[in-house]
Amino acid sequence: MTTRIEATRLIPGRGPVIDDGVVILEGATISYAGAAAEAPATPDAEVVVTEAVMPGMWDCHAHIMGFTRMSLEDTFRVPVALRAARATADIHRALRAGFTSIRDACGMGVAIGRAVAEGSIPGPHIYSANALLSPTGGHADLHDLPLEWFHDLSAREGTLRVCDGVADCMTAVREQLRVGADVIKICASGGVLTERDHPIHQQFTGDELRAIVEVAGMAERTVMAHCHGKPGMMAAIEAGVGTIEHGTYLDEETCDAMVETGTILVPTRMIVTELTAAGQGALTPAMWKKLLETNERHEDAVALAHERGVTIALGTDVAMSRPELPAAWGNQARELGLLVAAGLSPLEAIEAATANAPASLGPRAPHTGQLAEGYDADVVTVAADPSQDVAILTDLANITGVWKSGELVA
Ligand SMILES: [Zn+2]
Repeated sequence: MTTRIEATRLIPGRGPVIDDGVVILEGATISYAGAAAEAPATPDAEVVVTEAVMPGMWDCHAHIMGFTRMSLEDTFRVPVALRAARATADIHRALRAGFTSIRDACGMGVAIGRAVAEGSIPGPHIYSANALLSPTGGHADLHDLPLEWFHDLSAREGTLRVCDGVADCMTAVREQLRVGADVIKICASGGVLTERDHPIHQQFTGDELRAIVEVAGMAERTVMAHCHGKPGMMAAIEAGVGTIEHGTYLDEETCDAMVETGTILVPTRMIVTELTAAGQGALTPAMWKKLLETNERHEDAVALAHERGVTIALGTDVAMSRPELPAAWGNQARELGLLVAAGLSPLEAIEAATANAPASLGPRAPHTGQLAEGYDADVVTVAADPSQDVAILTDLANITGVWKSGELVA
């Protein structure tokens, strides 16, 4: 099956916009993308005429959690079947919004991704970390539960896993590989939505971080490191993680280390801004204080990273199931506007959402995120030109077609 998309503006994902472009989808692959004048004839193709065409977008930091409130405790308190049912709708909303690939930064993505891959439910390509790993008392721990309870619940449900010492860290990574994780997610610093750890403090020692990266690397997986504070970022970059998530306290030295090593930043502006705007709500006073401190620094950190040439891949940290909630699935295109507010050009924000994103999976990066010959046919048509104004992408009415692996899915 051949599809020929004729667009006034062809946005390739990387490089300049092409006026009067054509993209030809030959089965699951792009066989041509470029100027209409040089496009081969396709007499039997289905022809689609559109204002703009661009690669399917990636959210490199989302949680397939099925939450309706921002509480990690709900991984244990809400039945998995209920959360999975919500998540089925969540991933469909993301696909409809033009997101053809999701990196699940801990959640139910391994199982949900299997349901998508086998054709049981519609959804984007899903690459999952499975569990979130941190040391005891870290950002994957629930500090108000007796530790024995936490260990018991963790063993039953599996989204949160604490590990201490090199040997246990290796085991924890191997557990994720065993169930089919595509990437390993760790906390290299404290976080906001836990009670007593501090975002600036490092989590995991250098030895633990290196062991995690080594075991992941042997299985051709990269490591994504949740990290706000500088000590954890420097240790994680040195250990060889592939991506830094959040990056709140980035400074010039950290940015330069990321450029030198090719470490990617996944900023997640959306959760910071939308949770702050939503007010304290169900957050404890400790969490709210940490959120306000993060919010004060975060945009400047992203702006600095951009200025100093750090590669940025788009991520949102969505985990919520209802579109009216903050940081909710289906609203991910808002992140592009937040990146533009932090200094990226609209085309750079689109590049963060497309061409830059597959590398967030390290050695398992698929051949996608660009409109170019030989790339996977993950493609979106848009009723107006998002390279002029990325806000266009936040209106579903403008997303006129979504192809995943060459198949029209929305
Ligand atoms: Zn997250």
